Amino acid sequence: MKKLSMLYEGKAKKIFDTDDKSYFWVEYKDDATAFNGLKKGTILNKGIINNKMSAMMFTYLQQNNVDTHFVEILNDREQIVKRLKMIPLEIVVRNIVAGSLAKRVGEDEGYKLTSPVLEFYFKNDDLGDPMVNETHAQAMGWATMEQLESMKQMALKVNELLTQVVAKAGIQLVDYKLEFGLSEGTVMLGDEISPDTCRFWDTETKEKLDKDRFRRDLGKVEEAYVEVYTRLKEVVENA
Ligand code: UDP
Repeated sequence: MKKLSMLYEGKAKKIFDTDDKSYFWVEYKDDATAFNGLKKGTILNKGIINNKMSAMMFTYLQQNNVDTHFVEILNDREQIVKRLKMIPLEIVVRNIVAGSLAKRVGEDEGYKLTSPVLEFYFKNDDLGDPMVNETHAQAMGWATMEQLESMKQMALKVNELLTQVVAKAGIQLVDYKLEFGLSEGTVMLGDEISPDTCRFWDTETKEKLDKDRFRRDLGKVEEAYVEVYTRLKEVVENA
């Protein structure tokens, strides 16, 4: 496959066309943003960790019968994915209260939810990704009820698989964001799974091992990304 012109540059990734219309060529960058682009910075070698970690987690999900866009990893920063028609929603899955949910419900971070919470956000930077519900998504034509149902079922399956694997690495999967798209009408998991998009806490010490270290200026950001990847690699490779 040949890498052709860049189609889109996002906050953390560049997407390139290829000579095969069924695929995209993705390059992971070290750029980091938070608070809807208000905070900008660089996390050294984040692109390498996120590329490798996403490839590893998507492969694991695929082996467990979750349809994803992942095709193959090419090198440190690049991978090939299926071209999806993205559904303009972010699905946040939560197991433990943190971040915006702590504010919304007035509960301390760390409160264990009795069952997973699913939230939908409309992907729109100008609007700051507002929270929406399924009837908004259907009525606006962003997704059909059937597609929303598939997304919810897949998100819960992903949650079971990831929670277990992460736990074996001594990590709690607090919350994370998923994005879905369509490939020939089938709903597939797209985007990435990395410390940029998940909250990971050390099970024992509750130390934050994710992008909150960047958001909240906690230091040791690079080290946390490497730590999570190294621990998960050990578990996934022996799963
Ligand atoms: N998240 C993300 N991209 C976004 C918003 C949220 O990857 O645009 C992830 C975030 O890293 C966290 C989870 O989704 O793991 C829930 O985020 P929350 O709603 O608490 O918002 P935040 O505190 O990140 O503003």
